[in-house]
Amino acid sequence: MPLRETAPKLTPEQYEKNFSDITPPMNPRQAAIEASRCLYCFDAPCTIACPTRIDVPGFIKRIMTGNVRGAARVILEANILGESCGRVCPTEVLCEGACVMHEKGEEAIEIGRLQRYAVDHVLDRNIRLFHAGAPNGRCVACIGSGPASLACAAALARLGYQVTVFDRSELPGGLSTYGIAAYKTRVTDSLREVELVKSLGVKFRQNTEIGRNVSFDELEKDFDAIFIGVGLGETWAMDIPGENLEGVYGALEFIERTKVLPFAEVSVGRRVACIGAGNTAIDVVTAARRLGAEIVHLIYRRSEHEMSAFRYEYELAKKDGVNFLWQTQPVRILGANGVVTGLECVRTRLAEPDARGKRAAQPTLNSNFTIEVEMVVRAVGQKPTTEFLRAANGIELHKNGTVVVNERHQTGNPKYFAGGDCVNGGSEVVDAVAEGMAAARGIDAYVKMPPGVSSDASRQEN
Ligand SMILES: Cc1cc2nc3c(=O)[nH]c(=O)nc-3n(C[C@H](O)[C@H](O)[C@H](O)COP(=O)(O)OP(=O)(O)OC[C@H]3O[C@@H](n4cnc5c(N)ncnc54)[C@H](O)[C@@H]3O)c2cc1C
Ligand code: SF4
Repeated sequence: MPLRETAPKLTPEQYEKNFSDITPPMNPRQAAIEASRCLYCFDAPCTIACPTRIDVPGFIKRIMTGNVRGAARVILEANILGESCGRVCPTEVLCEGACVMHEKGEEAIEIGRLQRYAVDHVLDRNIRLFHAGAPNGRCVACIGSGPASLACAAALARLGYQVTVFDRSELPGGLSTYGIAAYKTRVTDSLREVELVKSLGVKFRQNTEIGRNVSFDELEKDFDAIFIGVGLGETWAMDIPGENLEGVYGALEFIERTKVLPFAEVSVGRRVACIGAGNTAIDVVTAARRLGAEIVHLIYRRSEHEMSAFRYEYELAKKDGVNFLWQTQPVRILGANGVVTGLECVRTRLAEPDARGKRAAQPTLNSNFTIEVEMVVRAVGQKPTTEFLRAANGIELHKNGTVVVNERHQTGNPKYFAGGDCVNGGSEVVDAVAEGMAAARGIDAYVKMPPGVSSDASRQEN
């Protein structure tokens, strides 16, 4: 059933303009000038701030001396998903946030864009910097093909493992393919990165769900170790009346459409309400505006000070003309003939901060009001998708559904390792990469352990 009223269609040129790169690529001259600003700090804080510890001054120096290929090698050696990270990392709070230039009252070095410049240079030219290691006769399975698994698979392939990645989705890449805003990265960028991992001999089996199409017994029989990188699941429901109406979407469902469909085919209401105030909510509201929605509300029960979205993401939404309704809680989605017509909300009061500094939002009596919208998007966090792992003996889950691992990213079942969003509860691509690589080291140590030595004993020795 169509939406009650959709936003007017834009021209193809307008869509492309609206979803063009928010951090456009640098040309060689811009890169050389920017690289020459770097102070090549000793114990560089930018490197320390990077979860994958990319040698930032090392690659910037290579760019400055014209060795762009060498720069890409430095980046990809530490982080095989350097292409994605150059585009999507929250550099403002990581490497660039730590850059000493801030102390000098100057703009931070544009590390993300320089990284992108170097990695694009080799990927655009199909330059192969790495090869699979000499086969060691061991096999590893990765469940999921998101950043965590890709990083784990690439690291193991370079050590000589035969790695097979299983993913239930049609396309590989996890949220880099299906979730991250189109003005940061496109499906083609993510798939190009998957090709890089494939070039190391890693095999991909898409449309294959572990626990449904392939059992844990089969995996255990065929593989020496298994990495779990299943991320998180669909968006939580809000449990308010009206959620079944046509025009109510989960954030991921809506964003996925902006990634895999031509922009003109993504229906968006003329007026849209998005519930939530994290980075995903910002992606929803900015995408809605860029698709042509005329009025887009971001609705959050607490205040601006409590929103979890990064400051620069918030600024982007403000620039896109989003309307913020703070201290507002939806109570009912209104509809007629099965489609959304509006949203009933109440105002909230914020309690004093509790022991964790969190302020509970309490609905204010008789403060109900309605807004007219044709589309409501829930962006209130993702459900865990790990319950199926209980079928594999010994894997434990935390109360919130994340997988319990030790410092080597090994689960309660020694043959299984895990990393990425399904372990950290939802973070950034670069964290998933760092955890996937840490798990690869853990797997290598486990597989090479002499027979008869338990992984617990080896843990004590380390
Ligand atoms: C809307 C949105 C925007 C984001 N924007 C950014 C951003 O701008 N920058 C940033 O750094 N991070 C961003 N993130 C976070 C980032 O995308 C994640 O942290 C990262 O993708 C986690 O990687 P992962 O490999 O752990 O999981 P995922 O990327 O979620 O991949 C998990 C994969 O596992 C597969 N899978 C699940 N269960 C099974 C099963 N049983 N069998 C087989 N396959 C299975 C899924 O199909 C999926 O492909 C964003 C996240 C969201 C939701
Ligand atoms: S902190 Fe800034 S100036 Fe120092 S090495 Fe890193 S990017 Fe260069």
